[in-house]
Amino acid sequence: MTDALKIIPTVIATASAVRNYSVPDVTRITDTMRRPMHDLRVSVTDRCNMRCTYCMPGDVFGENHSFLPRAELLNFDEIERLAKLFIQSGVQKIRLTGGEPLLRRNIERLIEKLARLRTLEGKPVEVAMTTNAVLLSQQAQSLKDAGLSRINISLDGLTEETFRRMSGSDVSVGTVLDGIAAAQQAGFAPIKVNMVVKRGANDHEIIPMAGHFRNSGVVLRFIEYMDVGSTNGWRMDEVVSAQEILEQVVQHFPIQQVDPNYTGEVAERWRYADGGGEIGVIASVTQAFCHECTRARISTDGKLYTCLFASGGADLRGPLRLGATDQMLISLIAGQWKQRSDRYSQLRHAATTAPAAERPRKKIEMSYIGG
Ligand code: SAM
Ligand code: SF4
Ligand code: SF4
Repeated sequence: MTDALKIIPTVIATASAVRNYSVPDVTRITDTMRRPMHDLRVSVTDRCNMRCTYCMPGDVFGENHSFLPRAELLNFDEIERLAKLFIQSGVQKIRLTGGEPLLRRNIERLIEKLARLRTLEGKPVEVAMTTNAVLLSQQAQSLKDAGLSRINISLDGLTEETFRRMSGSDVSVGTVLDGIAAAQQAGFAPIKVNMVVKRGANDHEIIPMAGHFRNSGVVLRFIEYMDVGSTNGWRMDEVVSAQEILEQVVQHFPIQQVDPNYTGEVAERWRYADGGGEIGVIASVTQAFCHECTRARISTDGKLYTCLFASGGADLRGPLRLGATDQMLISLIAGQWKQRSDRYSQLRHAATTAPAAERPRKKIEMSYIGG
């Protein structure tokens, strides 16, 4: 049976679900833990021009690795249509990610489409991007002009040696720093720089990174190394906890904690006491925030995932391409969200210390599901 034929029963089942039940009160969809759906991450490509050891290690994602063929990717009209339906279900922010989102050709056209959308309250939807900035120097201004509201840039070290080790590529640190400068020049503010900290690999660059971005207007955020996917060989002893990171920072620069910008903000915020700006720590491993997690994810090929650590997602592309109506698709999305009970990070200890046979099934790679 072709994939398309396999999907038809889903569409028929969805159609009858829509006939038999009224469309849920989409403005108040919550999951089994009463978490609303506020954020949507869209992975626009599973490809990348880097091979970060913690995300797409080069020995697994080698020259012969087969990425998704073009026809399997959601096109921009499909992403726009799904985005509208997620917004009708409560989403207020959309983040484009991947893989490396700047590798997706004409990404500005997608941003233009998404930036025109309005939330249920009539406000413009916030469209953000996370990028490794390799291609940002050339594109920062056109991204801004297209309506991108925010940009997060990943950078794991300042010395060429550390950066090369973390990124698994020959890209120079200067290329990323130029990208950051171009984004600042284009008017993105504040820019956030994400540094994944891995013990023995780049933790010696915590203070140089803090020093570099102090007084620059850039908010540096330290991220605990996570056990996403099944290929990075994650070990708990390689995680540098947010507390350890802060203890290092405070020895060099006095800092004070700052209130979150909004409920559910994943980064804990700190400011330099002398007014040198702000830093953040994202303690996904040692202080799980699943109870406040309001993120839905659409994979590159259009599956809905309700957790970064999920082993499966619900196909939206199949029904979409077979002519499902908006109501059918909303019903599918709402149905998935209402039955969501994910809280992997809160259960991580049990998951990672259990005998292999009892551990959860293979997890999906971050580059495909959208980091
Ligand atoms: N390629 C883009 C980039 O690197 O910014 C976007 C995709 S990447 C998957 C999104 C974010 O996930 C990056 O900031 C990256 O550092 C983070 N990330 C990837 N693997 C991770 C891991 N194992 N633990 C923590 N963060 C991770
Ligand atoms: Fe590519 Fe981003 Fe993953 Fe690094 S973290 S391999 S830049 S997708
Ligand atoms: Fe959200 Fe899943 Fe991460 Fe918990 S583990 S914060 S539910 S994505």
